[in-house]
Amino acid sequence: MNIFKNAHTKLALFYMMIAMVVSIAFSIALYNISTNEINRGLGKQNKIAVQMRGNPIIDELENLRQTQLDESAEKLRLNLLYFNFIILILSAVAGYFLSKKTLEPIEEAMDAQNRFTADASHELRTPLTAMRTEIEVAMRDKGMNLSEAKALLESNLEEISKLEILSNALLKLAKNDASATKEFRSVFLPDIIVEAYERIESLAREKNIQFENSFQEIAVLGDREGLLELFVILLDNAVKYSPKKSKINIDIEESGNDAIVKITDRGIGIKASDLPNIFNRFYRADHSRNKEKADGYGLGLSIAKQIVDLHNGKITVESKSGKGSEFTIRLSKYTTEK
Ligand code: ADP
Repeated sequence: MNIFKNAHTKLALFYMMIAMVVSIAFSIALYNISTNEINRGLGKQNKIAVQMRGNPIIDELENLRQTQLDESAEKLRLNLLYFNFIILILSAVAGYFLSKKTLEPIEEAMDAQNRFTADASHELRTPLTAMRTEIEVAMRDKGMNLSEAKALLESNLEEISKLEILSNALLKLAKNDASATKEFRSVFLPDIIVEAYERIESLAREKNIQFENSFQEIAVLGDREGLLELFVILLDNAVKYSPKKSKINIDIEESGNDAIVKITDRGIGIKASDLPNIFNRFYRADHSRNKEKADGYGLGLSIAKQIVDLHNGKITVESKSGKGSEFTIRLSKYTTEK
């Protein structure tokens, strides 16, 4: 990108300038100290030379000494000039690489942001295009009756719901970014999981899915709203990607200073090649080969990961295609001890 090329050059020049200012200041100081020291050291000789002025040998010696002194000063200046020239070349090379290293993570973050904006715009445009096409076709249809108009409105409403889901997910991502400050307090895990379960209960009932729970009474220090969101996403996925009449396990256990929540389903599982990507924004595993088709934008797990990161926790997944998935969340336990 052009903006980065400019910044790269400017930063490299800036690093070079700093190195040169230091080097020149150092050289001037070194030159002054050296000449002062030599003059101070020769102070006694100078006095004798002045007292014995007129003596041809002393005058000759004095001339010789002065010439040598001038030559040495000239040599020192030349050496310092070489030294600064070498520093100039070294600082140009170092500045080039240093500025590249400095800008690399910023460039990567900006690339990711641009990709995200492009993906989001694409996802937002799809339902809008569908709505526009349907409306345009309907406007051209002079003999449209009431039930056809209602069907069109229903279809438009569906697209609007999709847009709402997407914009909500985008808002959540923006709200939970790394700079977000949340007020953390004690959150009792069994309560929050039951609350999350209630949000997806109707979907689970529809699919006749049974839950088996094993809860230890543990609290964590966290953002209640965020943690609720996290478990809704994971439970919703577990149900969404499970076949009818299957079983899902939720376990809360402790391990040292950590609380561990495990959500295990016996659903379609995730292919090993998809596993490294499922926490990426807009990533969806290829479901075309699966009978279980599910709605979504591939944003749920990236929101989940963002929430876990905000809690300095860890989220991991083990999964086998066709067998099921187990998501494990590790969070710091809430303790009253300081
Ligand atoms: P989506 O909206 O597509 O569910 P997510 O970010 O929540 O988006 O999940 C990303 C992808 O990870 C999903 O498209 C799906 O392929 C896979 N996935 C997530 N959870 C599960 C699960 N419990 N079982 C199988 N696949 C899952």
